[in-house]
Amino acid sequence: MTWPSLKRLGVLIFVIAPLCAWFLVKPVRVIAPRLVGITCPMENVCVDDISKYGEAAALYAEGSAFVASVLSPLRAPPKVIFCSTVACAENFGLGARSAVTVARFGTVIGPKAWKPYYVRHEMIHVLQGEQVGVIPLLFKPSWFVEGMAYALSDDPRTTLAEPFETDRSMFRKWFQTIGKNSVWSLGKDL
Ligand SMILES: [Zn+2]
Repeated sequence: MTWPSLKRLGVLIFVIAPLCAWFLVKPVRVIAPRLVGITCPMENVCVDDISKYGEAAALYAEGSAFVASVLSPLRAPPKVIFCSTVACAENFGLGARSAVTVARFGTVIGPKAWKPYYVRHEMIHVLQGEQVGVIPLLFKPSWFVEGMAYALSDDPRTTLAEPFETDRSMFRKWFQTIGKNSVWSLGKDL
């Protein structure tokens, strides 16, 4: 390949592809939240409304401690963006979802999800990514991925919408027989 065509390839990979990702895949915006009006008073806790920072920081601290106690501590503190408005959530393409975790880049908590169990749920997904690997996690059964997040976040809803209710009960049965120390070693083979 000649130098100019290599340069064109470079422009394509490093400039055009990220730009497309920015506009087409909104969740990718969690990588650069400051560009959509989010402030991060602490590196990993970001808010759209600075007056809600205290509440966000408390949810973040509770979520990390909870996940560490029911499973294992997160290796790296995850970036969590707390949106207090629908407009903020829409900037990240949340749609009908209450919250979303985008691989290892970060988590967005929508206005309806400022509750301990939602934050724990997303932090469990971050921990799954760390322990199993972001790509292998895509191939794990839903009862392992979503079932774990619903079961171990102490989600108070007695009956979830399907398929999550089935996922949660399947995970609970499996977890009772193996315990938290074997979750990741056995989970890798699922
Ligand atoms: Zn989930």
